[in-house]
Amino acid sequence: MIRTVHRAKYVLADPDLVLQNAAVHVSSPGRISRIEPWQGAPASPDINVVDWGSAVIMPGLVNAHAHLELTCLQGRLVRFSSFCDWLSQLILQRRQWKREDYIESARRGCEMAVNSGTTLIGDISASGVSWEALRSTRLRKVVFEEALSFLPERAGEILASLEDRLNKREPDALLCPGISPHAPYSVSAQLFRPLCALARRTSLPLAIHAAETQEELEFLDSGTGEFREFLTTLGVLPDAYQPPRMKPIPYLENLGILESPVLLIHCNYLDPESMAIILRSRSSVVYCPRSHAFFGHAEHPVRKLLDLGINVALGTDSLASNDSLSLLDEMRFLYRVRKDLKSCEIFRMATLNGAAALGFGASAGRLRCGYWADMTVIELTGETGPKNLTAQIVEGNGKWYATIVQGETAASRG
Ligand SMILES: [Zn+2]
Repeated sequence: MIRTVHRAKYVLADPDLVLQNAAVHVSSPGRISRIEPWQGAPASPDINVVDWGSAVIMPGLVNAHAHLELTCLQGRLVRFSSFCDWLSQLILQRRQWKREDYIESARRGCEMAVNSGTTLIGDISASGVSWEALRSTRLRKVVFEEALSFLPERAGEILASLEDRLNKREPDALLCPGISPHAPYSVSAQLFRPLCALARRTSLPLAIHAAETQEELEFLDSGTGEFREFLTTLGVLPDAYQPPRMKPIPYLENLGILESPVLLIHCNYLDPESMAIILRSRSSVVYCPRSHAFFGHAEHPVRKLLDLGINVALGTDSLASNDSLSLLDEMRFLYRVRKDLKSCEIFRMATLNGAAALGFGASAGRLRCGYWADMTVIELTGETGPKNLTAQIVEGNGKWYATIVQGETAASRG
């Protein structure tokens, strides 16, 4: 059995644990068997040594929220008058796409993610083709099959089609399915409940876009505003629609959806009651800093969420509202715009918190014996020694060098 050893000048096992001139040993099937000081290349022909020189080996970066199938929309939706206008443009663009376009788009996105250090991604697929598109890619993925319909009478049909999709899925070591009821303004209560029950019955993770815009809050509270117009134009607002007169998170709790942890995407607008519900349900929040800035939202409650002990992960969202799928770019942007966050917090959000949010907190997000050998290699651009290595990476001293998944090099520069 051939074992692989990855050696580098620094191994950053955790934000505050640096080993100098060290090696990560990988055993079959792609798990870390030990991390120790480098003692020279072993003579055994059964050991494959990969020497990353003066670089840093760190835990693989985790993108907890993306829509890889929208990668081809990069730079296409930059002029819009409101979130609903942006959504309308997105729907129009997608209507022209064929199945092959989605496949090509998802594969391109995946390549961008791997080529910038991502080892694990939570991807949302509305088209249903991402599973096939991403199956052979060398990146660990949770593909959330998205379901949406605001018309109660369509709930049964949408549920049956989603179950059918899921029944055909055969997970492998790098690919697992999840379920994503899109959002409180696009999924009827009649569809939300059975989707949630299905996720529980099949033990699949659940991801929901929630509390993303002020307009969503207004619509759930009073049934008025831009979302009313948007849904009416689409012909999907039931004549008898009655708003729940609640904020999005209490509404999800009221539907019984937060009885177990959920991946809550965005959560840009939360009041103290909503935060308390998220904490109680042990749900995670995915914050997408550059997408958040793209839409010009009010300051994200990330500081309060972290202080409460809520697990906050990072996501890039899609290239329809971001300019790269790089978690390094995301961390550095966040460091620049949020001076109330420490580098080590940002680092954890992009590694361990992301892994935990996707249900892999005990096997990814840090370098430990028994964990997956999923690692990102960073080349320092200015050598300042091992002190504050985490801060150096988050603040911008370093560029992507390689992505290692299951102990094997999935991509490297040059
Ligand atoms: Zn999204």
